[in-house]
Amino acid sequence: MQALLQENREKSSLNLKEVEEPRPGRGEVKIRVRAAGICGTDVHGISSLQPPVILGHEFSGEVVEVGQGVERIKVGDRVTSETTIYRCGVCPYCRRGFFNLCPERKGIGSGANGSFAEYIVVPEFAVHILPPQLSFEEGAVLEPLACAARGVLEQAELKDKEKVVVLGPGPLGILVSWVAKTRGVSVALVGKQEDELRFQVAKEGGVDYLLNLDEVDVEDFILREIDSYGVDLVFECSGALPAVSLGLEVLKKRGQYVQMGIIHRPVAVDFDRYLFSRELKITGSRTQTASSWEKAISLLENTSLPLRKIITHSLPLSRWQEGFELTQSRKAIKVILKP
Ligand SMILES: [Zn+2]
Ligand SMILES: [Zn+2]
Repeated sequence: MQALLQENREKSSLNLKEVEEPRPGRGEVKIRVRAAGICGTDVHGISSLQPPVILGHEFSGEVVEVGQGVERIKVGDRVTSETTIYRCGVCPYCRRGFFNLCPERKGIGSGANGSFAEYIVVPEFAVHILPPQLSFEEGAVLEPLACAARGVLEQAELKDKEKVVVLGPGPLGILVSWVAKTRGVSVALVGKQEDELRFQVAKEGGVDYLLNLDEVDVEDFILREIDSYGVDLVFECSGALPAVSLGLEVLKKRGQYVQMGIIHRPVAVDFDRYLFSRELKITGSRTQTASSWEKAISLLENTSLPLRKIITHSLPLSRWQEGFELTQSRKAIKVILKP
């Protein structure tokens, strides 16, 4: 079968190759990939990459074969899969359901073969049936939605928090804004001049303020128009260094900062100013756990998130290079590849 394989740590080793079709072992499910989303980490790289590996971790498809012992999932089911396909089950994190933090964790598209291929094999426990109203393309966006659900509904302490700022209007920032809106809070999404398309789409999910850093003094706007004490909660989804200081600065005392973007380098933070004097809470949110997937699916069943709007391009897998360029260019929001 055709697959987008990264042979070694060099990005130049990423290429469409003919590889052997995977077979499902005991407890495993073989899925024909129908839609696979390109993530920023596919383009920019991640530290947990173990090449040679097929990239891709946001996908949906239909089950074509099941291994021995598989009972819940059947051939013909329309499904998606969690990214974590191996966890030890005995470490202190696994025992509390934090599979995303297991030291032995393997995720598809980084530690195990991913979804930029005609077929993928995953364990049954990771598989979720798609809600019937969801297209395969929308099904491929469930993974970033589960990341957003983890940040907003599990890592953030939303109780009594009313004013939220989201930094970075990429697919994750837009989904985080929308999930926050389902909780009835006010949301300001911050981006740049070139994010115009992203702002338009974000608006469809009811985001209250769209703040363009190239046009307004964002810190001044927040303190003047939203709350003179600052906001309650900041989600940093851009991974841009200057966004970290902006996010910490616009928080109210005792507010909470959640890091969701990957910064790729160390950050200097003034502990006296933010942790001591303002008692800020700083936390992170990494990928998802099984519970975040359940929350994401329940969001789709009980709210009307305009998920389809963030999919701006759909290309055959053979045009993956174009898809990667579009993802990098900000001319796209979510690009889907179809093997
Ligand atoms: Zn991703
Ligand atoms: Zn573990």
